[in-house]
Amino acid sequence: MSQSVCILGVTGSIGQSTLKILQQHPEKYSVFAVTAHSRILELVEICKQYRPKIAVVPSSKVDELKQHFQNHNLNNIEILSDEAGLIAVAEHPDVGVVMAAIVGAAGLLPTLAAVKAGKRVLLANKEALVMSGDIMMQAARDYHAELLPVDSEHNAIFQCLPEGYFQTERTGQPKQGVSRILLTASGGPFINHSLEQLQSVTPAQACKHPNWSMGQKISVDSATLMNKGLELIEACHLFAISEQFVTVVVHPQSIIHSMVQYVDGSTLAQMGNPDMCTPIAHALAWPQRIQTHVPALDLFINQKLDFQEPDITRFPALKLARQAMQNGGLAPAILNAANEIAVAAFLRNNIGFTEIPQVVEQTLNQVEGGSAESIERILLADQAARSVAQQIVTHKGS
Ligand code: NAD
Ligand code: MG
Repeated sequence: MSQSVCILGVTGSIGQSTLKILQQHPEKYSVFAVTAHSRILELVEICKQYRPKIAVVPSSKVDELKQHFQNHNLNNIEILSDEAGLIAVAEHPDVGVVMAAIVGAAGLLPTLAAVKAGKRVLLANKEALVMSGDIMMQAARDYHAELLPVDSEHNAIFQCLPEGYFQTERTGQPKQGVSRILLTASGGPFINHSLEQLQSVTPAQACKHPNWSMGQKISVDSATLMNKGLELIEACHLFAISEQFVTVVVHPQSIIHSMVQYVDGSTLAQMGNPDMCTPIAHALAWPQRIQTHVPALDLFINQKLDFQEPDITRFPALKLARQAMQNGGLAPAILNAANEIAVAAFLRNNIGFTEIPQVVEQTLNQVEGGSAESIERILLADQAARSVAQQIVTHKGS
């Protein structure tokens, strides 16, 4: 029987790559529900091709979508709206697999709903885990969800860890012979820029990643290295390991997607051409393997693999994220919210590139932390951080 899939954020870069894999395996997977925030015409095209049962959009877009559905004879697709609609499809009893590919904090509650419904959850939406780490991981255990990493680095680590690693105790210490995780980073488009050059980079330059084609927010995060900071936090939660056992390694070619080191001196790496279809297919089919269109790695073409240490003077976001993870509690949620506001402001040309980590740092200094004991507390901290970050942005922009 085919598995029925819900794609949260189907119009995004990860959503599109997911569809590419599903299209290649129609006997294995069917699309049950799709969600989109803005690109309604693209959503209609997707609905024409995949005929899902449910589509979710913001309530402001429902009339427009209904009209398109009527024009294309798609009236049998049910339309739901807003966060309630996202949660309804994420936990729908007819759904087996949920691709969590909404960008940012907006994905938190739908992703958590999917976890609490015990689904196989393919996690691209790292911000959701950064905000709610312990709660999300505890829910996955309590409700027997399979929370599988799609982020290429975490998927690589998952592939390099010993079998059964997840079933054992979560102590923060590496176990089963593992000694360290090496989280690779491309370094982004500005890896060789001086601090002075960084000050004048534009949103268009920041969104042009050398190896990956991604949504705007994660592209800017990759350029500031905040993406690696968020991924450091993501790795600590997914793999129950404290941050001191995670080393960030800049590897500009993005051929090695991350590594796991063992006490006997072994280092295991997962390698491949940089294409998100590989980790998506891996998480979808795990523990089996399915075909993708991604060509096998040709090491005679990719002859050079370089490595260097990250420079936290030019890219302080990485340091801020590590500190937030050390401080724990609400700090990662505050960091994430401030970063979302700062990146949006940068994309609107309201602040400069190097001001992004400044907004994050100042917000972390101004918003009170505390324990992340409930989702309500986390959402309150998220809101508080957004309003403080917004004030800082307005002040900088004036
Ligand atoms: P994107 O901007 O291309 O797509 C985002 C999707 O989320 C779209 O479908 C959009 O409609 C939806 N969305 C945006 N705001 C929303 C809101 N407020 N409510 C509901 N839906 C909303 O982003 P992307 O590059 O596909 O990234 C998605 C997630 O996957 C991010 O968390 C990102 O960090 C993570 N990720 C992406 C890549 C990549 O290669 N693109 C790699 C690893 C992880
Ligand atoms: Mg990644």
